[in-house]
Amino acid sequence: MTTDSSNQLLADVDAYCQELRPIEELCYLEHRYNEQTVTLAKKYNLLGMPIPAQYGGRGADAVTYARALARIGREGTGVRTFFSGQTSIGQYPILRYGSESLKAKYLPPSVRGEKIMAFGLTEPDAGSNPLEMTSTYRKSGNRYLLNGVKYLISNGGIADAVVVFAYPEDKQGKERRMSAFVVDTEGDTFEVEDLHAKPGMFTANTGMFQMTDHPVPAENLISEEGNGFRVAMGALVSGRLSVASGCLGVIEDLLAEVLTYARTRKQHGKLIGKHQLVQEHIALIEMDRAASDAMVERAAIAKQASDVAQGDVKLAIEADYRVAQAKFFVSNAAWDAADRAVQVYGGRGWSELYRVGRHLQDVRVCRIYEGTDEIMKLKIASALLGKEFAAFQ
Ligand SMILES: Cc1cc2nc3c(=O)[nH]c(=O)nc-3n(C[C@H](O)[C@H](O)[C@H](O)COP(=O)(O)OP(=O)(O)OC[C@H]3O[C@@H](n4cnc5c(N)ncnc54)[C@H](O)[C@@H]3O)c2cc1C
Repeated sequence: MTTDSSNQLLADVDAYCQELRPIEELCYLEHRYNEQTVTLAKKYNLLGMPIPAQYGGRGADAVTYARALARIGREGTGVRTFFSGQTSIGQYPILRYGSESLKAKYLPPSVRGEKIMAFGLTEPDAGSNPLEMTSTYRKSGNRYLLNGVKYLISNGGIADAVVVFAYPEDKQGKERRMSAFVVDTEGDTFEVEDLHAKPGMFTANTGMFQMTDHPVPAENLISEEGNGFRVAMGALVSGRLSVASGCLGVIEDLLAEVLTYARTRKQHGKLIGKHQLVQEHIALIEMDRAASDAMVERAAIAKQASDVAQGDVKLAIEADYRVAQAKFFVSNAAWDAADRAVQVYGGRGWSELYRVGRHLQDVRVCRIYEGTDEIMKLKIASALLGKEFAAFQ
């Protein structure tokens, strides 16, 4: 990507965020899904930022895309999560592992906003270990029939197409390896339910769905049968980088809010920014920001190198490792920064009326989805110790 097109994309993202902000704030206070997240993203052509121009996208490299998601993250984790579902884990596995005809079928319409995308790996009884999932498929003529329930899916209630993972119904033991499909969400064999009982991210959609002999055309298989786990793990590297980037944006926004508040709020006869204990919070939020910025940049550079040299196993392992570190570190830094920012705001901070309170509610989930803190720690430690120390295999 040229510097000019990267700058143009980031300028468009900034304009999008500015236009979205007042609408997002209103939707948040009313606890309702923000439809303008998609509508305005169409207007600014942001629904396929890293998708190559031949499919209508902006062709962003991993570093530019990470910066774009950091800017979007400032508007809230809910907004950024939409983009992660649409692009980082929705479009990405099709782009990276799909056939040319599958790319032609799904990438241009999803970039135009005619198809909203999602990624369905998690099930009620299979989260940290997706191998324990129970969704199945069987071949029937020139299509597959899918059965199963997918749970806690970002964009799951609004998606037109979902990347879904399932096991072959008739295989057992070592032969039972999952496959990945692009599944259209239409028809009465695909039932959807929105999940509303959540303590944040009110403006984003989280859903679950059930497939009952749901037909999927044979050409919608991603990669080859049995290759689904590889597709899922590849997509999660992209997704984790999006979480880390979004959390960096959250910290940036928190810092901006806290600096303004500390310069205007007075207690004990002076601006609270002049109290040394308040300054400590500000200094530590800035340290969260500076370290997170470096972690995201490092991870995005590793991801970019791996994207360019597809098939290079060493670079892929390096990207996986650095992205896991960034995801773990930055999501925890954002949680720490949100906690400190709320403290600086005092009673007002513990309120949805202020950005710091909303960030606190939303950002907690970033330590859970796309791989929990614990799974990231195990991944980092076993990468250092060696494969034979892997905590679970
Ligand atoms: C808002 C939201 C959006 C989401 N979006 C998506 C999506 O778009 N697509 C999708 O597929 N999924 C999505 N998820 C699901 C998410 O990825 C899972 O919630 C996450 O992977 C954890 O799985 P779980 O909830 O089943 O927890 P569990 O796996 O049951 O874990 C419970 C606890 O046990 C710990 N634990 C589990 N195994 C180990 C171990 N071996 N060692 C140490 N500790 C362990 C975990 O770290 C955690 O603390 C979303 C979740 C949320 C909340």
